[in-house]
Amino acid sequence: MMDMHCHIDLYSDPDEIIRECVQNNLYVLSVTTTPRAWKGTYALTKGVPRFKTALGLHPQLAHEREHELPLFDSLITETKYVGEIGLDGSKEYLPYIDSQLRVFRHILKECQKSGSKIMSIHSRGAVSLVLDELEKYPNAGTPILHWFLGTKKELNRAMNLGCMFSVGPAMTVSQKGKKIIEWIPRDKILIETDGPFATLDKRKLRPIDSFLVLEYLSKEWCAPIETVKNILRNNLKRLIL
Ligand SMILES: [Zn+2]
Repeated sequence: MMDMHCHIDLYSDPDEIIRECVQNNLYVLSVTTTPRAWKGTYALTKGVPRFKTALGLHPQLAHEREHELPLFDSLITETKYVGEIGLDGSKEYLPYIDSQLRVFRHILKECQKSGSKIMSIHSRGAVSLVLDELEKYPNAGTPILHWFLGTKKELNRAMNLGCMFSVGPAMTVSQKGKKIIEWIPRDKILIETDGPFATLDKRKLRPIDSFLVLEYLSKEWCAPIETVKNILRNNLKRLIL
């Protein structure tokens, strides 16, 4: 199984979480929120099988950390994975959209320069804007829209731009989330938790909670767990090979 978007460095005991992932054979994409956090986060799981560390600059921090872009550029050749990046159009962060756009465009340009990346992308309240940018940088890599909450039209547009979608336990308990999961074709879906930011029943999610999504998909698709696992494994293989 997999967690394609979690913040390992932000758990109070990352080592315990990492052990749990290894015991459960999880493939984990450990995303970061600032370029400065990359080295330390990478060191946490260096040599641990099936762990990848993505280099990111979170859109909610763009206005405070724009000056870290040169550091971002100096690290980009160290990893094939980029995230968390994107745009946030929610009320709190909309005032910083210019800075967010500068950062996002810069990163997409760098991704395009250094070769195809796998990118975990935040698009809260800004799906169309994110897609506009992805359209301008078609060779940046494969975008994974994390916790996508757009419309069906936006979903189709995203698919035409080559996007995949990582869905988490929180989406399986909201009406909108459930509907979106239904729309996503089976060969475009991946699992994430967004722990420890995301919660379920006030509990911080952990990578092993990705099994909750597996069970949910098995019920929704009327397919045995093993079949769903195979579909997801193939999606992951196509993405990373
Ligand atoms: Zn996140």
